[in-house]
Amino acid sequence: MAPWVAGRRRSDETRRWLPMSFDSAKALKTATGRAKSDVANKLVSMFLHEISRRVSVAGGVQVSSPDYLRAVVNVFGHRCVYCNRDLEQDRAAVEHLDGMNRFRVGLHVPGNVAVSCRRCNNEKRRDDQKQTLTLASTGWESFLAHDGTRCPKGCKTCDYWTLVWQDERQKRHFLAESVKRVVKFRKGFARFIKWSDDARPAIQHRVEALYRTCQDFATSEIDKLTSELNFDFSDLKTNEVRG
Ligand SMILES: [Zn+2]
Ligand SMILES: [Zn+2]
Repeated sequence: MAPWVAGRRRSDETRRWLPMSFDSAKALKTATGRAKSDVANKLVSMFLHEISRRVSVAGGVQVSSPDYLRAVVNVFGHRCVYCNRDLEQDRAAVEHLDGMNRFRVGLHVPGNVAVSCRRCNNEKRRDDQKQTLTLASTGWESFLAHDGTRCPKGCKTCDYWTLVWQDERQKRHFLAESVKRVVKFRKGFARFIKWSDDARPAIQHRVEALYRTCQDFATSEIDKLTSELNFDFSDLKTNEVRG
């Protein structure tokens, strides 16, 4: 049996046999679980997109329309919605102010879609992927709330904003300005924001169910199909991994 599945001595053996960090060993072990949650997250995203499509049609405003783009540029210019840096110096990313995932349940609808720089888009994911936010009730507000005064030392998002604006007063000023711009932008689409806020608990409920169902389906279907293949593994029994 391979050393890393050999029972109680597993973690010691893993460290001895794999000349890599413990995190790499952990990543190897959790790969299948991550693949299943990736599939479930993709399904959640598809579900939220379908709801968004219906909301946009009913509300008569498409995020892809020239009018919507004009509304975005009117408030943010050609700048990142969060850091206000020029988007031409950066690759731009379509940004959901409330992330489109099972925790934030944001929608691809007017008022929730803007443009950010790639860097902010990546950094914001840390908050978006938290089950519960502590600094604010929405993903975008939480991201902009990391001003270095409320988080424990070593908060990566606080560190990011310190990297963007080294001067403390400047940092707080610009973060507050960004909040004001987003609030102003969202006021222009108040009916969509209100609809989304009102519908969120019901959507979240279904999203959680969909996520669980998808993971259960993946587990049982993969087990079933693998068993059906009825592989013969007898030729694979060697000890080469021991070195
Ligand atoms: Zn940015
Ligand atoms: Zn922080």
